[in-house]
Amino acid sequence: TPLTPVTLIGLGPMGHAMATALLDKGHQVTLWNRTASRADDLVARGAILAATPGEAIAANELVILSLTDYDAMYAVLEPAAAALSGRVIVNLSSDTPKKAREAAVWAAGHGAAHLTGGVLAPPHGIGKPEFSTFYSGPREAYDKHRATLEVLTGETDYRGEDAGVAALMYQLNMVIFWTSVSSYWYAVALAKANGLSATDILPYASENMTGMPEFLSFYAPRIDAGNHEGDVDRLAMGLASMEHVVDTHTDSGVDAALPSAVADLFRRGMEAGHAADSFSSIVELLGRR
Ligand code: NDP
Repeated sequence: TPLTPVTLIGLGPMGHAMATALLDKGHQVTLWNRTASRADDLVARGAILAATPGEAIAANELVILSLTDYDAMYAVLEPAAAALSGRVIVNLSSDTPKKAREAAVWAAGHGAAHLTGGVLAPPHGIGKPEFSTFYSGPREAYDKHRATLEVLTGETDYRGEDAGVAALMYQLNMVIFWTSVSSYWYAVALAKANGLSATDILPYASENMTGMPEFLSFYAPRIDAGNHEGDVDRLAMGLASMEHVVDTHTDSGVDAALPSAVADLFRRGMEAGHAADSFSSIVELLGRR
């Protein structure tokens, strides 16, 4: 069977890498980008540059979007909405689950199917087998285009019909990623203020991160069972420890905003009566009440 021809809208670092991966596999690719010059090297490799978003959408059933967010999607697609009927929009722009659900309704109103995507790969991971993307939305659209989507990331993780779920799974990963990486920036700033380089502390920082899966595996079943027993750690100990971290930053002349936010959270847990419970009891403070 011939390879599915693809329309791709959005040529930031991610979209550009996606167009490259599709061309590498031999797909016919029609492009549109607000800044047309970003398509130059792709056109030199055989991609077709459409003059308008409407023309790009009219070219193929499968329309992949890689834009900054869903507001950018409306900015591009609203004027071209008449061309959307019968199309499958695979939206790899990241945004909230709420925006994804609204977009699915909006697309359906124009006769198009909307598959939400959450790409767990940096631009250099696009086209590689070991990277993965969450998808949710109409199963039929996913099944039909799965092989083409596997060109973008070798793994595709279909999470069901709800348009919001792929966005939710992506955001779950992002809260871990951005805050963990920020904790590393704080450690580096503290090291630098004390005459150590990022490279000096790399083995220790890496070992700390490498231990995390074991830590999560210990707490996950206990959290699910509502067990916050203070048998291995106590929140009161956690707060004392975080206060040392805040003080070390302050004494070193380093910003302490992130450690202070964690210390404040632990203090709230203490005030709620969890001093002798595990610091996993913080989870109970954060949820919807
Ligand atoms: P960019 O924000 O660089 O993508 C920008 C693209 O959106 C460009 O094509 C830009 O056009 C277009 N765009 C933005 N606003 C508008 C608008 N109002 N009208 C028309 N076009 C617009 O992001 P990336 O390529 O880095 O990422 C794309 C998506 O993938 C984002 O949602 C991002 O969160 C997600 N993502 C990114 C990762 C990364 O490592 N970069 C990793 C995983 C997901 P123009 O070229 O004209 O500016």
